[in-house]
Amino acid sequence: MLAIDLQNVTKTYRGKVQALRGVSLRVAEGEIFGLLGPNGAGKSTLVKIIMTVVRPTTADGTVLGVPIGTQEALARVGYLPEHHRFPQYLTGRQVVDFFGALGKVPRAQRRARVEELLEVVGMRDWGNRRVTTYSKGMQQRIGIAAALVNDPRLVVLDEPTDGVDPVGRREIRDMLLRIRREGRTVLVHSHLLREVEMVADRVAIINQGQTLAQGTVEELTRDSHRYEIGASGGPASLQTVAGPVAGVPDPERPGVLTYSVPTAQPTDIQPAIDALRAMGAVVVRVGRARESLEDLFVRSVVDERGRAMPGAARSTGAPR
Ligand code: ADP
Repeated sequence: MLAIDLQNVTKTYRGKVQALRGVSLRVAEGEIFGLLGPNGAGKSTLVKIIMTVVRPTTADGTVLGVPIGTQEALARVGYLPEHHRFPQYLTGRQVVDFFGALGKVPRAQRRARVEELLEVVGMRDWGNRRVTTYSKGMQQRIGIAAALVNDPRLVVLDEPTDGVDPVGRREIRDMLLRIRREGRTVLVHSHLLREVEMVADRVAIINQGQTLAQGTVEELTRDSHRYEIGASGGPASLQTVAGPVAGVPDPERPGVLTYSVPTAQPTDIQPAIDALRAMGAVVVRVGRARESLEDLFVRSVVDERGRAMPGAARSTGAPR
């Protein structure tokens, strides 16, 4: 079943601002899904429509099997909004308990649930301190615990790692993976593309109220898959299955040229390696590469704007 299955979502604010112009979104149960897009793309509007906070102009489809726009599904949705602020006089434990009460978790179950979640997010020792004493990362962890208190099937997290230091970001990523292991669906909305790339099973790129691309990062970057062969003492141009490929000097390794062969098949590059070795060149590196999510994002958004600067949308790729 799909956790979110939406088509033709449009939203025009006050009869004039077209925030969404026919977005579709398909999020499978039990996956981490990244919702990406530049500022003003319509991501928050889409999330608010899913949360039934904003009424769509048109929308078809379901959230957790319930028609979009009905509040019935919300009992099974957990939400961490962006820039959330908890009442400053509360402790972390009280915040999670408070959200449990709002989420109508029966009091008898709430105690145990709160303790379990503080443990899950690594905040048990800090639970009795006021939220004012917390770092940004700790506030986010308490926010995630609060979003999980009603045992949701779908967890919607808005910028969960924004303003959090690298160690805290990794901890939050691990938490997302744990939430997925528990069988929940995670919809994460972030501008930190590397963060999303590390955890998301699939992503959608939204721009100017439309879905530009949707799929796994692997699928969306398929055309950019390649092998890179680094060799010292190689020729200026190497014959490969894809025709001649120029050797590009490696800025970090003097004398090493990198040949970028546009293929995803390791068998395709064996003849090129043989040829290099036969010429007496020394192969120092062989690796698969593809566009990063950031390259894909910039390319999709710039292409869409139709005013790509020469070279701006070219991929330099991320070696893997
Ligand atoms: P994102 O979250 O991707 O930055 P938003 O959904 O916040 O995008 O905004 C999409 C567009 O809708 C923007 O042009 C924004 O100015 C407009 N918009 C958002 N909320 C409102 C509102 N309440 N009233 C009028 N326009 C809005």
